[in-house]
Amino acid sequence: MNASLTPNNSPKVKRKGSVRRPRAGSHLPPFSPETHESALYAIRNYLKGRNSYDTFPVSFRLIVLDSKLEVRKALQCLLNNGVVSAPLWNSERSCFAGMFTVSDIIHLIQFYYLKATSSSSYDVASDVEFFRLESLRDIEKELGVEEPPLLREHPSASLYDAAKLLIQTHARRVPLLDHDTETGHEVIVSVLTQYRLLKFIAINCPKEITQLHLPLRKLNIGTYVSNPPVEGQDRFYPIATASMNTPVFDVVHMFSKGGISAVPIVDEDGIVVNLYETVDVITLVRLGAYQSLDLTVTEALHQRSPDFPGVVICTASDSLGTLMQLIKKRRVHRLVVVEGEEEEKRGGKKGRLLGIITLSDVLRYIIGDLVSVRMGESVERLIPPEEDKVVTPPPPAEDAAAAS
Ligand code: AMP
Repeated sequence: MNASLTPNNSPKVKRKGSVRRPRAGSHLPPFSPETHESALYAIRNYLKGRNSYDTFPVSFRLIVLDSKLEVRKALQCLLNNGVVSAPLWNSERSCFAGMFTVSDIIHLIQFYYLKATSSSSYDVASDVEFFRLESLRDIEKELGVEEPPLLREHPSASLYDAAKLLIQTHARRVPLLDHDTETGHEVIVSVLTQYRLLKFIAINCPKEITQLHLPLRKLNIGTYVSNPPVEGQDRFYPIATASMNTPVFDVVHMFSKGGISAVPIVDEDGIVVNLYETVDVITLVRLGAYQSLDLTVTEALHQRSPDFPGVVICTASDSLGTLMQLIKKRRVHRLVVVEGEEEEKRGGKKGRLLGIITLSDVLRYIIGDLVSVRMGESVERLIPPEEDKVVTPPPPAEDAAAAS
């Protein structure tokens, strides 16, 4: 494990003796459940008054791919530019044509496997190499998976509305589109990701973040191992897990089936030893290894880039505020929740898998529970009662696991 939210070996700092001064009167005691609730309320209000332009860095570049480009070249372009997705442009009709994301690559791999195992004479490898981005939609049809929604948001829409759209559609990013007033054509301005939005909150709401002091255990943010275990289900149900010996193709299938972006790798005691992420699949495809997905997780992890930032773990006693501080400092997309001292006291084992928290879980909690929509339906918000947010957990673990 490379990183933890709770460093336990930090050096002791000698402090000067302080002189007690009377505190200024305050209506709320520090760090009560009410301060946590009012911090959430303040963050939501702040987002209502800001838009996507406010999240843009002073200068940035945007990679847009022509939908006629071959998948192989598109992948190389993503890798060369250090990004994992890009908007597509239909140059014949001068319009936005969707997003190219890791999910497309996952589907491509599944398609490859399906073809390769059903016909030995058909040269699928060369077919896959020369697919054009525009044909990816045909692959989804053939696999019978849902087509990704053609989402968009105007960059001037409030960040609160953009966040709602992300939550309701289970998207990890939303392309920001405007119109050219002269030609009337669409203009791709940028892409708002869950990470950029949460980092924006972490940077711009420092006071509120420190007030989000309640532990993750109490807030029930994320998906957790069912307790008591569900009969007939895997011991970590509803969490999809794998071992170091699991074939990578099985993990790829879990990504696609559950609409999830990472699978914790556990040993025989249930201790988390690693995490296999959808982005790891990009490395495999680049190396041409998708033709031999019988390789195990151990073998696949050997191919992982040395720049891999590490797996971040936390315990259910860590607070949401600590998590937000972490998001401010580093590009973290998910945390694996493991058993800690609290669980050990009750017969548990330190480091054993307890749950997983992704950026979608954090965003959903901060914005408030909304009704999910299927594509094609109108996006309407259910306004949850403002009280009881802390004691009423977001969705039950089973629902969360099915979300993509
Ligand atoms: P993601 O798309 O990765 O943000 O995850 C979508 C939802 O699935 C979130 O509610 C996560 O808590 C949940 N989730 C993520 N990874 C897993 C997993 N390996 N097994 C079950 N649920 C997961």
